[in-house]
Amino acid sequence: MSVGVLSGRRVMIDPGHGGRFPGAVGPAGTQEKDVVLAVSKVLQADLVELGAEVRMTRSTDVEVAPGASLRDDLKARVDLANDWPADLLISVHANSAENASAKGTETFHAIKASDRSKTLAKLLQKSMIDDIGLTDCGVKASNFYVIKNTKMPATLVELGFISNPGEEQILADPAMQTRFGHSLSKGVADYFAVEAHVKPDGPSELPGDEGDLLAPGDPVEMLLIGQV
Ligand SMILES: [Zn+2]
Repeated sequence: MSVGVLSGRRVMIDPGHGGRFPGAVGPAGTQEKDVVLAVSKVLQADLVELGAEVRMTRSTDVEVAPGASLRDDLKARVDLANDWPADLLISVHANSAENASAKGTETFHAIKASDRSKTLAKLLQKSMIDDIGLTDCGVKASNFYVIKNTKMPATLVELGFISNPGEEQILADPAMQTRFGHSLSKGVADYFAVEAHVKPDGPSELPGDEGDLLAPGDPVEMLLIGQV
């Protein structure tokens, strides 16, 4: 991949959670907010090297809307992407489940996503499975707030299950975080290589206000909304 190949492309990276919101926490104490920030920074560095303009919704351990509610924190992420405007958004998360044996990598697009969002999700998922090799849980549709309300192709990746002791170890390993970042940047480059051939977002796919799910990442977080 040559330097400058992503010149002029605007990518918004959204490391999930941060500050008062740790996201999922693994059995050994690994916090999702730390894992996804480390992976996002590698992704950022790779994309900058390829010539892209990159912004992060956060680049330290902070809330994006300090002191605000979870919903306003999510809205702040969406606003940063929509106001720029970004060409695409990638929200980076780690998964969690009651069942400690749940495992694998999955990627989400919104339910009424454009073909471009679906293509982006597919290519990111493929790159992570090819490079990291966790169980392939596939590409799924869900109206997570940050991917439903952004106006550009958007996807939410769940790197692996932090609630699974084996995957928690992988996610907490800086070398593996670097590999995840590289695999995502490869997926982004793959996406921009084919984007022109994929139908763009149409007006009918602009977001509405109804039916949002508040959670940015995983089912467990949705259940915790009332407690945040
Ligand atoms: Zn999350």
